Amino acid sequence: MDCVFCKIAGGQIKSAFVSENEDFVAFDDINPVASCHVLVVPKRHIKSIKELSGFSGQALKNLLGIIDTVTDEKGVKQTGYRVIVNQGSDAGQEVEHLHFHVIGGRKLGRLG
Ligand code: IMP
Repeated sequence: MDCVFCKIAGGQIKSAFVSENEDFVAFDDINPVASCHVLVVPKRHIKSIKELSGFSGQALKNLLGIIDTVTDEKGVKQTGYRVIVNQGSDAGQEVEHLHFHVIGGRKLGRLG
C-alpha cells in the first residue's frame, strides 16, 4: 500500500519517533505550525476516525498514553496543547491514514 504514514510507522521511511507503543507511533510533522507539532499515528492502516470504534480498550489507553508522553517530551503538558483530527475534505485532510495532530508551544488562535 502506498501510504506515507504506513511507511514511517513500518520503518521503510526513516523517522525519529518522539514515542512509540504497541499500537501507535509519534513523530514530528514535516511542516510544523508550532514548536510542538507531532503526529500520532496508528501502526495499523485505518482511514477514518470512525474506525477507532474497532480498537480495544487497551489500544485506546495507548492512544491517550502516547499523547501524554508526547506532551511531556515536548514540554507543553503544563502550558497547554491541542489534539486535532482533520477528517475529510472540508477539514483539509491530506493523508488518508488517521493521525492526531498534537500542537502546542505558543498561544493558539480560535478554531475555524
Ligand atoms: P492532514 O491535513 O491532517 O492530513 O495533515 C497531514 C500532515 O502530515 C501535514 O501536517 C503534513 O505536514 C504532514 N506530513 C506529510 N508527510 C509527512 C512526512 O513524511 N513526515 C512528517 N509529516 C508529514
